[in-house]
Amino acid sequence: MEISSNQQIDFIAYTQRLLVEGEFNATYKYALLHALADICIETPLMDDPKHQLKIPLSTIVEKFIAIYWQHALPFNSVENNMNTLLHQNVGKQSVIITELSRCHNLNIKNINKLKQSDNWNAIYKSTLRVIKEGPLWRLQLLAKKEDCFLYAHNKGASFITLNAGIAYCFRRFYELVTQVSRNAWIGKIQSIPANQQIIGKQSQLDPFLFGINRQAITKAKPVLEEIQKGKCFYCQKSLTTKTEVDHFIPFAKYSNDLGHNFVVAHSSCNNNKRDYLAAFEHRDRWFEQNIINHQKSIDDELNSYFNCDAKRSEAVTSWAYQVALKNKAQFWLAKGHFESAEHESTLS
Ligand SMILES: [Zn+2]
Repeated sequence: MEISSNQQIDFIAYTQRLLVEGEFNATYKYALLHALADICIETPLMDDPKHQLKIPLSTIVEKFIAIYWQHALPFNSVENNMNTLLHQNVGKQSVIITELSRCHNLNIKNINKLKQSDNWNAIYKSTLRVIKEGPLWRLQLLAKKEDCFLYAHNKGASFITLNAGIAYCFRRFYELVTQVSRNAWIGKIQSIPANQQIIGKQSQLDPFLFGINRQAITKAKPVLEEIQKGKCFYCQKSLTTKTEVDHFIPFAKYSNDLGHNFVVAHSSCNNNKRDYLAAFEHRDRWFEQNIINHQKSIDDELNSYFNCDAKRSEAVTSWAYQVALKNKAQFWLAKGHFESAEHESTLS
C-alpha cells in the first residue's frame, strides 16, 4: 500500500496551516512538531507506509529535553554585551528552560549526565506535565478548532498513535518540516519583546539554537583517528594536520549529534562533500566501521558526550538513503564525483 500523492500534499498543506493558524504563546508547539519528525526518522524502518506509529509520551519527553538543552544556555550577544537566557514564552519564562538552566548551573555537562543525576526525575515529571497541559492537545487546534490530522486526542493514554501515513510523510518531508518549524521558532523568539534587547540586530540565532556543538565534536576526533588507523574515511589516504570530524549523515539533513554518525576526514574531503549524502560504497563502509566493528568502542569512548545509540544511528541512515533514492538525489563519491541512484539496486 502506497501513500497517494494527494495524501502527501494534504500533509504539507496541513503543516503549513498549523504554523499559520495555530496560536503560539510559547515555543512548545514548534518543539513538538520537530520532536515528532525526529522520532519518525529515528525509529527503525517500517515496511508498511500506512503503519500507525505508536509513540510513548516518555519518548516525546526525552526528545523535548534534548531539544531544549542547548536553548537553556545563556545567549551571548556580542553587540549588546549581554549574556542571558532567551525567553521562550511571551509571559513568564518557560518551565523547561528554567529547569534545564538550573542543571547547566549545576555544571551538568550533557543529557547523559543529566539522566544519571538526581535531577532527572523532577525534570522528567515537569516536562511531561508541560507537554500534556500545553502542546500535545493544542498543536492540532487550527483557528481554534480541533483538527486531528496527525494523531487522535486520546487524553488518558500514555502514548499517541500517528494516523495512517503520517509517519511516512514525516520521513519523506523531514527536512521541510523541521526547516519551517525552526524558522517559525526563531521568528517567535525574535518577536518576544523581552528578547529584543538581548538579541540586538546582528546576532545570529540559528547557530545558537540549532547549531553544531563544536566543542563536543573535538572529543570524537582522536577516537575516530584511532579506529580509522590514521586514514581519511573517504579517500583512504593518510590524514594530515587539516582534519575534521564529519557528520556522515550531514548535519544539515539531521541535526542531532549521534556518537555513531561521526567519521574523520581531510578538511578538503569534508568540505567537498558538503551537505550531500556519501555514495553507497561509503555507506557500506560506514556501517562496517561504526556499527559492525567498532560499535562498542564508540559507545565506551563517546557515551559521556553524545547520544550513542547504534540502532538509532542505523535507522537515521536508512531513512536518509531511502528518501534520497526516492528523490533521485546525487550521492557524493569523491572530489567532484557523484553517482546517482541507479548504481544501487538493493537498499538495506
Ligand atoms: Zn580524504
